[in-house]
Amino acid sequence: MDDERTLSPALTQADGEIELSLRPKLLREYIGQDKAKENLSVYIAAARQRGEALDHVLLYGPPGLGKTTLAGIIANELGVNFRVTSGPAIEKPGDLAALLTNLGDGDVLFIDEIHRLSRAVEEVLYPAMEDNVLDIIIGKGPSARSIRLDLPHFTLVGATTRAGQLSAPLRDRFGVILRLELYTPQQLGLIVTRSAGILAIAIDADGALELASRSRGTPRIANRLLRRARDFAQVIGDGTITCRSAQTALQSMEIDELGLDLIDRRLLTVMITQYRGGPVGLETLAAAVGEEAVTIEDVYEPYLMQIGFLGRTPRGRVATPAAYAHLGIVRPDDDAGPAGPPGSADGQGRFF
Ligand code: ADP
Repeated sequence: MDDERTLSPALTQADGEIELSLRPKLLREYIGQDKAKENLSVYIAAARQRGEALDHVLLYGPPGLGKTTLAGIIANELGVNFRVTSGPAIEKPGDLAALLTNLGDGDVLFIDEIHRLSRAVEEVLYPAMEDNVLDIIIGKGPSARSIRLDLPHFTLVGATTRAGQLSAPLRDRFGVILRLELYTPQQLGLIVTRSAGILAIAIDADGALELASRSRGTPRIANRLLRRARDFAQVIGDGTITCRSAQTALQSMEIDELGLDLIDRRLLTVMITQYRGGPVGLETLAAAVGEEAVTIEDVYEPYLMQIGFLGRTPRGRVATPAAYAHLGIVRPDDDAGPAGPPGSADGQGRFF
């Protein structure tokens, strides 16, 4: 994936430190995701009242939506330590054992990209999650024996962009499974305004909404666009981000009015011009645009589907009439008149 892409929801190095300062610390500062927040606040209050560790939590949804932030908030709200690691960082069962034995009672262990844990590491995780024990094998071959260590009670918070890739036994061990949704422009407007306040960036309400409506439903992107728009407002304006200076900034970054960038538009254009709007298989599409299939699935598709530009069918991906209209390409059926012949899309993104 191209990490330099302004609209990439992936974390870049430049994002790292600034994101830390922008992360909400408490549930009430966390904007949107009302369903997830409502449920969590009940579970957290109940765990606190009982003086027990919170049940294990699985958060899933596209990158940049606030999974890590929410995991940190869970630890803060519980008043416990927060340990952070990721699936690829835990290479061997011993790495996980070291992490688990260093936890304090009630602590939150956050494993990002949990779908990337190896099977051998997962096997160690099961008894730890279920019975708070660690089974360690000492020695090799016939003289190998297993010893069992007690672990503190802890809460595992796992995050994944692809819940479907989690093995069933691992998924079943999470008591709470929450799906994070893309944010509305109004919610992103609040996030942009909040971030601007923290970073001491001057922005008016229209400027915030303009950035918000082009952030692909993703807070990480909204915060990144805010920083780029600040540069433009400073150099070509009076320093305040307004609707106009935001538009100039977005135009220079080739981000269109719906938040699509060159790659999104290429994806749709390829589907339309080379595959007659689809259906086209994911792998074929990935090869045609030179991106990895997982990147298309995790990064591009969720937003294109949300705005009704792309549909998934059993036979592959299809570009909707709205995508044709946005790119200014006439659909073959449209030549036949406004209603279109039977068998065409109905103009509202539905296909027969
Ligand atoms: P993920 O772990 O899902 O990739 P992060 O938790 O790292 O996403 O969030 C990316 C950034 O977006 C954070 O630094 C935070 O500032 C911001 N953010 C995410 N969700 C929210 C929210 N609900 N309210 C305010 N800011 C948010």
